[in-house]
Amino acid sequence: MEVSPFAQLAPGPRILLGPGPSDPHPRVLAALAAPTLGHLDPQFLEYMDDIQRLLREAFCTQNALTFAVSGTGSAGMEACFVNVLEPGERVLIGEHGVFGGRMAEIASRLGCAVVRVQAPFGEPLDIQRMQDAIEANKPKLVAVVHAETSTGVLQTLPAIAEAARKSGALMLADCVTSLGGVPVEIDAWQLDLAYSGTQKCLSCPPGLSPVTFSERAVAALKARKSKVSSWYLDASLLLSYWGQERAYHHTAPINMLYALREALLVLREEGLAAAHARHARCHRALVAGLDAMGLGSPVAPHDRMPQLNLVRVPEGVDELLLRRTLLREYGIEIGGGLGPLKGKVWRVGLMGHGARLANVMALLGALEDVLERMHAPIERGRALHAASAAWNKD
Ligand SMILES: *Cc1c(COP(=O)(O)O)cnc(C)c1O
Repeated sequence: MEVSPFAQLAPGPRILLGPGPSDPHPRVLAALAAPTLGHLDPQFLEYMDDIQRLLREAFCTQNALTFAVSGTGSAGMEACFVNVLEPGERVLIGEHGVFGGRMAEIASRLGCAVVRVQAPFGEPLDIQRMQDAIEANKPKLVAVVHAETSTGVLQTLPAIAEAARKSGALMLADCVTSLGGVPVEIDAWQLDLAYSGTQKCLSCPPGLSPVTFSERAVAALKARKSKVSSWYLDASLLLSYWGQERAYHHTAPINMLYALREALLVLREEGLAAAHARHARCHRALVAGLDAMGLGSPVAPHDRMPQLNLVRVPEGVDELLLRRTLLREYGIEIGGGLGPLKGKVWRVGLMGHGARLANVMALLGALEDVLERMHAPIERGRALHAASAAWNKD
C-alpha cells in the first residue's frame, strides 16, 4: 500500500489571543461535529428559528429581519451596504481604522458617492465633526465601526445615530468585534443596520455573519428602484428562506449554524451583562500586568475596548520575532499592527471564550520570558502579581 504523503489533520494546540479568530467554546466545537441535517428538515428549520430569536436577544433588538449571512464578517458588511444602497446615492463613513476603510471601499464599488470623516488611528471619531458632516451632506446612510479591531478603540454610537435619524439617514454599525464583548443595543441606540461575525466575541469559528435590519432599513430595501446587485446577499431572497416561505435560496451552512446556535446559547446562559463584565475584568488584569512590565498602549484609557488591546512594542524589539517565538514556544497567537501602526504595536485579543484569567496569566508570563530573552527594557517579576491583584480587586 502506498504511504500517504499527507499527515492526518492535527492542528494546534494554540491559545488564540489575536484580533480573531478566537478560541471557540468546547460546546461549539462539539456542535460542529453533530450529524448534518438537510436545509429544509423540520428539525433544522426549528434551529434556524432559535438562531433568529437568540440573535435578537444578543443584539437587543425586536427587528424581524435578523439572521445570519453565510460568510464571514465582511460578507455581513457587504450585505448591509448592497441591500440599502443604489448607485449614485451618498454615504457618510466615519473612518477611524482599517475596517472603516473597508466600508468605504465597498460603498464606492457600489457606485455610491462616499464622504469620509476620518480620525487618526488610535482615536475615536469626533462626534461634533460627524454631526456637522451629516447635516452638511445629507447622506442616505451613515456607517461607523463600533469596535475598531485595527486600533482597539471603542466608538460611542448613540449621538451619531441620533444625528443620522434627525437628518433622515439610515445608521449602520459594524459590530463584528463588539457583539458579545461589550453592550450592543440596536434598538435603544436607534441603529438601522448592524452586522457581526462569529469568530470574535461569540466563541465560534469564522464563517457566519449575524445581521439585523430595522423596519426603516426594510422600508429602504422595499423602496429600491433597482435590483440588489448581489444575488447571493439579496436580503429579500434570503428572507424567503429564513422567513415562513422556506424557499430554497442557497444551501445553508448547516453545521456552522449549529455552532452559532450553541455559541448563542452559551452566551445566553452566562448572560450578556456577565459576559461583558468578564471581558472588562480580563482587560483590567491584562492592563495591570502590562503596566507593571512597563508596556503601554497608544490608546487613551477611556477610548479602549476590553476585548482588543494595543500594546506598544518596546524600543529595539523585533515585533515579528517576538510573535513567532510566542507561537512556536508557547502556542500563543497575538496580532501585529495594521496600517500606520504596523510594526509599532501588538494586538492582544481577549474575546469570547478566550477572555479568561488563565489566558491573561499565560500571555503575561510568556511575554515576559520572551521579552527578557530579547533583552527588552521591561520591568521583570511584577506582571503576574499585578494582574492577579487587579483580577481579585473587590
Ligand atoms: C474582523 C472584522 C471584520 C471582518 O470580518 P471577517 O470575518 O474577517 O470577514 C470587519 N470589521 C471588524 C471591526 C472586524 O474586527
